Amino acid sequence: MKRLVSARCARKGQVYALDNSYACEHAVSAEKTCTFRVGKVILQREIPKDQVQKLIATDKTDLLPKFISKKGRPFSAHLKLEKGKVGFEFAAKAPKAKKAPARARQRSRKRECRRRPLRRPPYL
Ligand SMILES: [Zn+2]
Repeated sequence: MKRLVSARCARKGQVYALDNSYACEHAVSAEKTCTFRVGKVILQREIPKDQVQKLIATDKTDLLPKFISKKGRPFSAHLKLEKGKVGFEFAAKAPKAKKAPARARQRSRKRECRRRPLRRPPYL
């Protein structure tokens, strides 16, 4: 069953609420000229129609709580539209830069171990 959502995708296609997803008319036609399609339920969380409209209008939803990760953990995230595809933008919390320096330090330590002082016989 098709129901019109009062929104148009970036390529001006009409967006419909289908049984399991919201999709642009051009994403469900025989010739797919558009990729706009969002599941009605993503990670056990229902995506309300007004958030789909917001996603289309601003490329991003509000911060939506209660997604359930594949490990069963609840988390909050924005849905965002990037190059016609829907992805997550996680709530800014832990900076990613934390792990990289630790790895770099380990690598340089290893390099130090390999570097051995040159030993020359004293008579040279
Ligand atoms: Zn479209």
